[in-house]
Amino acid sequence: MNNKYWFYIEPHCFIHTNSKLVIIINTMSSTKKVFKKTRRIAEIVDKLMTRESYFCVELSDIDLTDNEVFIFIQEIRSSFSGDCVNQNHVRAKPIFPYPLLKLQRQISNLEKIDEISPGVDVLTYLKELTFYINSECKLNCSCCQNAFKQTTFCTKAFNGKITLTEIAGFVKKLQGSGLNVINIVGGDIFNYSELQDLVDFFNRTSYKIFYHSQLQNLRFNLIKLNYFKGGNGALNVNVNFPIDTNVIEEICSDPVFREMHCRWNFLVSSDDEFDEVSRVIEAFKIENVMVYPFYNFRNLVFFESRVFMEERDILFGNISKQTYFSRQIINENNFGKMKVLPQGTLFSNLNNESIGCIDDFVPELLFRELKNGNSWLNIRNMQPCSDCVYQWLCPSPSNYELAIGKPNLCHVKP
Ligand code: SF4
Ligand code: SF4
Repeated sequence: MNNKYWFYIEPHCFIHTNSKLVIIINTMSSTKKVFKKTRRIAEIVDKLMTRESYFCVELSDIDLTDNEVFIFIQEIRSSFSGDCVNQNHVRAKPIFPYPLLKLQRQISNLEKIDEISPGVDVLTYLKELTFYINSECKLNCSCCQNAFKQTTFCTKAFNGKITLTEIAGFVKKLQGSGLNVINIVGGDIFNYSELQDLVDFFNRTSYKIFYHSQLQNLRFNLIKLNYFKGGNGALNVNVNFPIDTNVIEEICSDPVFREMHCRWNFLVSSDDEFDEVSRVIEAFKIENVMVYPFYNFRNLVFFESRVFMEERDILFGNISKQTYFSRQIINENNFGKMKVLPQGTLFSNLNNESIGCIDDFVPELLFRELKNGNSWLNIRNMQPCSDCVYQWLCPSPSNYELAIGKPNLCHVKP
């Protein structure tokens, strides 16, 4: 009994541990196996996870006499997440490259190159821009001061308006960047005096443009939908409670509206609201719908029952290799996004401090965000997530964590 074995983890699998547990994630079959971290299993896993081991360690017959180690290996084999092969059959150590996220390399390269002056390369990370073009609106929604901090929604929280000249000048500065999506939000965008020219301007670009209007504001401005005819823009209809179904009926029967590409975004803050939205969607056969939970500071119970994740939610479903690794470096909700307020101030997230203004040198602002910011790189590296075996299986922190004031929205570590 002096056989030696190579025990290895397949390259499409990942290991993560905390002080008590070990999880093996198979990104191909989406199997996730959780094990108790006994002393012997901890020794093997710690070794497997070193860069030098290449996800492969040597075991002996004595190692396999440990019942927990034996079961651990059997489970990994049966889920096709790894294997344990006799060295009499495979003499050379199987080598699997240690996965290292490309972006991580790129960011550290940027830091080296740009110690003196940030280059324009960093602009390629910018993907999405949201312009809050004005702050005027005749309505008085109760969600006005908060919804925009949780998802893309109109607000009167800011002052003034940004001119089309300023918008066009800023977009021009971003030529050669990775910018692909532009959101236009108000206030009430139909109150924006240069709206038609703005639409014409963006119709001459190749960006994907989304114009956001609250349902009631849209109803009062159906005639202005003609501005968008034949253009490249899509309309986002933002709906908050109370919902007037007569308005929905009126809008849905408008011939110009019916020809537009549009998406409906509903805000819900309770189970009753969710049920009502479901009825409305059904009754008006609305397609292309997103339903966003809205935290109104009185509905934590709704969030706890509908939004907070259970262990089974986290273990269910697939996760790609790319997502698993990118969550260790970047915030998947915020990365590449920037907001421009009516006064020209810039934000990487509206819950955080401003990062600059439209007159600044944008690569430098983005570079600072990548180096020291707390939005694009806001990951689950704080307690309790930093000591949780599901740390990188859970989605990146969202604005809901910030609104609720809790770093983890789950029942795993209440
Ligand atoms: S429609 Fe939008 S901007 Fe107007 S009050 Fe409601 S939330 Fe505020
Ligand atoms: S949110 Fe944090 S604490 Fe909760 S399961 Fe995910 S990583 Fe663990």
